[in-house]
Amino acid sequence: MNNFGSICGRFAPSPSGMLHLGNLSSLLLAWLDARTLGGKIVFRLEDLDPARSKKEYAEGIMSDMRRLGLNWDEYPGINYQSGRTALYDGAFELLRQKGLLYPCYCSRNQRLAASAPHESYAHDRSVCRCKTLSASERRTLEAAGKRPAWKVSVPDSEIVFTDGHYGLRRVNLANDGDFIIRRSDGIYAYQLAVSFDDMDMGISRVVRGRDLLSSTAKQIWLIRQLGGSAPDYCHAPLILLGDRKMSKRFGDLSTAVLLKEHCPEEITGILAKLLGLRESDAPISPNELLQSFSWDKIPTEDIVFHYGK
Ligand code: GLU
Repeated sequence: MNNFGSICGRFAPSPSGMLHLGNLSSLLLAWLDARTLGGKIVFRLEDLDPARSKKEYAEGIMSDMRRLGLNWDEYPGINYQSGRTALYDGAFELLRQKGLLYPCYCSRNQRLAASAPHESYAHDRSVCRCKTLSASERRTLEAAGKRPAWKVSVPDSEIVFTDGHYGLRRVNLANDGDFIIRRSDGIYAYQLAVSFDDMDMGISRVVRGRDLLSSTAKQIWLIRQLGGSAPDYCHAPLILLGDRKMSKRFGDLSTAVLLKEHCPEEITGILAKLLGLRESDAPISPNELLQSFSWDKIPTEDIVFHYGK
């Protein structure tokens, strides 16, 4: 549990690239949400995937956030997911003892399991028959040197929750089907780590882009299986560049580059107008925005941004 009292939000960036305006928009909203409620904020770096996470990105993200005035509280400092494997081992064991896990020998869909699935969940239900393999079939695969990923078996039942911005959601877990919680190389998957961490760190408010709304039912269910109670979730519209989502890979409007051309308050001003929090895009700090912050002003449709106009 956190030692901050009841309200606690979180910043959970992945250091797999520089922040772009879309990431920054979610971080600003997480900050405004927690601070208007008088809550604290935990900083967690989601650096599970060693192939994609870089120290320079982590440092760049933290330094950009500091410059913009998006501060956080120490718990017990910066939390690196890569340093929390022993805790995930415990969660894995608990799920295994409950009979919820099975090894999956398919090679599809495993590569990206350590990062958050920002698009609709790619599932392989139609081709994966690992759940029904007999013990001797498993032994044959193991003998051939196949190392399994681990999947969690979800029930055919509905999770009902109310998103703070998108309202009532009813999701049958069986729609997306079973999902990977540990990759075949032993790296824990995003869904397990994020659920365990939100529970373990006593997070009570999760604010993030609506592309993760489709992961929320899975996370609520996993937290319940781990014996915890899920936080409140509040998803935010995405900021689109023209007709497509921003991407770290393309270096779209990276905060680091924007900060070379604009002062931090100018960037926050642009975001405040885009998010519907103010009529003008005049420079402003996150602190000054607190008074005018309300989820009611923020659209539910994604927001199209035309840089330079
Ligand atoms: N680490 C994820 C990202 O940067 C966010 C995960 C979350 O907020 O649940 O995209």
